[in-house]
Amino acid sequence: MAQDDRSTATRVIVAVFDGLRPDLVTPELTPNILRLAARGTWFRRARSVFPSVTRVATSAIATGAPPGVHGIVGNAFYLADAIPERIFDTSDIGMLRRAEAHHGGRLIAVDTFGDVLARAGKRLAVVHTGSAGSAHFINPRARANGHWTFTMLGTEATQTPEAVEDAIAKLGPLPERQLPRLDELAYGGRLMVEHVLPVLKPDVALIWFNEPDTTFHYRGLGSPEAKAGLQQADRAFGAILDWVEAQPDGERIAVIAASDHGQISTGSVEPLFDAARRAGFDLSNAKAVDGAAFLATGGISGEIRLRGDDRSQLERIAAWLMEQPTVGHVFSRGSGEEGDIAGTLSLDLMGAGHAGRQPDLMFILKSSLEADQYGLPGLGAMTPGDVPLGGGMHGGVNPHELNTVLIVGTGTGEVGSVSQEPAGIIDIGPTVLGLTGLAKAPSMVGRDLSRPAREEARIRRVSTGRGAFSQQVEFAEQDGRRFILGGH
Ligand SMILES: [Zn+2]
Repeated sequence: MAQDDRSTATRVIVAVFDGLRPDLVTPELTPNILRLAARGTWFRRARSVFPSVTRVATSAIATGAPPGVHGIVGNAFYLADAIPERIFDTSDIGMLRRAEAHHGGRLIAVDTFGDVLARAGKRLAVVHTGSAGSAHFINPRARANGHWTFTMLGTEATQTPEAVEDAIAKLGPLPERQLPRLDELAYGGRLMVEHVLPVLKPDVALIWFNEPDTTFHYRGLGSPEAKAGLQQADRAFGAILDWVEAQPDGERIAVIAASDHGQISTGSVEPLFDAARRAGFDLSNAKAVDGAAFLATGGISGEIRLRGDDRSQLERIAAWLMEQPTVGHVFSRGSGEEGDIAGTLSLDLMGAGHAGRQPDLMFILKSSLEADQYGLPGLGAMTPGDVPLGGGMHGGVNPHELNTVLIVGTGTGEVGSVSQEPAGIIDIGPTVLGLTGLAKAPSMVGRDLSRPAREEARIRRVSTGRGAFSQQVEFAEQDGRRFILGGH
């Protein structure tokens, strides 16, 4: 990589392709991502965080740290002090505003790269085509920071409605929602090259493409519709690269292409919570909180919280989970490798042990490396939800959920290279700051990938179990960071 002069990148552009697996980065589907790879470093082993879901990952990108540090511990989780009567749906702008008000605007208490940029008088502009929650968490203090966040969901879904007004004035009305989200991707790409980059000229610009994730979920990973969505996102990215190359300082503009997590295909739907109730547990997985002893959220992974303090009930339900043939992993609180409940691994080990917000238990349903109906490896179970059987899902620790796209082009004339070094989404914020010439915040765990690592990578395997149940997770560790490689 380039030496110290690379810290003077005149600006940084980040493009996030939601849900993109690295094995779908191909000449047919993503020629423009490969165009960046030809002049940057592709971190092939890059990893998301656990749980591997969008708002947890978004917050990890923003804060350079796993959920144990940033505190957004699920796409949906119970945040009793702020929203006692419902499960907190982090995509919902109304609930987000309540939670932020409760926490004085610091629902994410630690600094984000947007906060660090703002303190240095630098600007971050975001073009977001995903949920209001994801648009929020990428720069949760956008208004206070004097920054600009556009969301495709309109003026009500952002702290900076003027961003949506700017876009409509320049490009016309927001497009109608469709599947795949072709018009939204094109609109977002145009907003970048016609307004954000040439007019706003922010120090850091970030675009978040809602594909391929959305169409993976509802049509399947290898479906023609998902391919069309991914190709359209790549085309919009290509227009951004064209714009960069046409600038007199194009060689000094750094570009990062990334995804937040991967996906696997759902091979079975498992009514785990019905089974728990039949086994005698007073458990609710409803969105409204009722009088049940246990509150649960589902998906490929989920959380379970005990209301009240009868620890023996937790021991009992954890033991029951470990007896279910469909359950692959069970985690509980604790600061060692094993959780406080025998046979479990600790949430801390997984980077999910946030002191104030971690649940009592988390589980992951089983998945394998078997091929799906399209020949893509990664097949798993999920609890009943809105994704059809055969559709894509994520949230667990299958390598194909965790492995993300991460390509860093520092713009200093480097040629394409591939790195097998540990890396992941927690490195994006520190890298953006490093390229802008700023030090990361003390709470940031990730490192600036445009500089060499200090240590050799170490592989760590942790296993535990109880009775017939056994579980294993493999990690790569380096420079104070721990990445989950996969588990079974
Ligand atoms: Zn996502």
